[in-house]
Amino acid sequence: MRIPFIAGNWKMNLSVTEAVQFLQAIKGKLPDPKVTETCIAASPLFLESMLKQSAGTPLIVAAENCFYEDEGAYTGETSPKALQEMGITHVIIGHSERRKYFNETDDMINKKVHAAYRNHITPIVCCDETMSRRESTNRISWVVSQVTNALQAITSEQAKNIIIAYEPSWAIGSGKTATTDEAEEGCYLIRQTVADLYSDDIANQVRVLYGGSVNDENADDILAQRDIDGVLAGGASLKPDSFLKLANFLQ
Ligand code: 13P
Repeated sequence: MRIPFIAGNWKMNLSVTEAVQFLQAIKGKLPDPKVTETCIAASPLFLESMLKQSAGTPLIVAAENCFYEDEGAYTGETSPKALQEMGITHVIIGHSERRKYFNETDDMINKKVHAAYRNHITPIVCCDETMSRRESTNRISWVVSQVTNALQAITSEQAKNIIIAYEPSWAIGSGKTATTDEAEEGCYLIRQTVADLYSDDIANQVRVLYGGSVNDENADDILAQRDIDGVLAGGASLKPDSFLKLANFLQ
């Protein structure tokens, strides 16, 4: 039985003060984590205050990114070891915006997945699909190769805890959500890839999320799909009310 996972990705939005106000506003209103896990990923600048503010609540505070080395001469990077030390348990890796604006490659993403596990942090790996890829004939192989490359040399013991998000960049921030069939198809493909790489048993334990213009009007249908275990919302996670609606859909 996979516990649904409802996550927000704030990206480079809000201020530290607004983040704390947000957490105050949702306090006591989140679902039981045995029924639905909830998570918000934010800038490393926010994490300390967010962890303090959400202590004793079911909210998982996640990082939006980390580097693949634990320490060293990497100016401006976020150490996964330091994230672990501060109490961070989840990190988004390989978001399409990291791939697009910061030239993250599958190889870097795989190293980051290893870095996360090395530091006992659960990776939330994003799998992109651009419109040109979607319209091309090798679309399936591109999604499969992103998952396969991200999981290179990851053991089945590690893989069963991974969270993978199908986040077609053509649907991100565009207001253009994938249809429920398209979202389910992408998530199914990811689960099948995990089954091929490991086993059906592992694939049945891995949580697969959909992300891309999710809101409180379309989440219902998206969350009803067989292979979709939750969502990764950008814009809809920035307001306490809309995040709470997403978080409590499955109550
Ligand atoms: P939007 O929900 O704003 O489309 O963003 C999705 C996303 O990128 C989440 O990681």
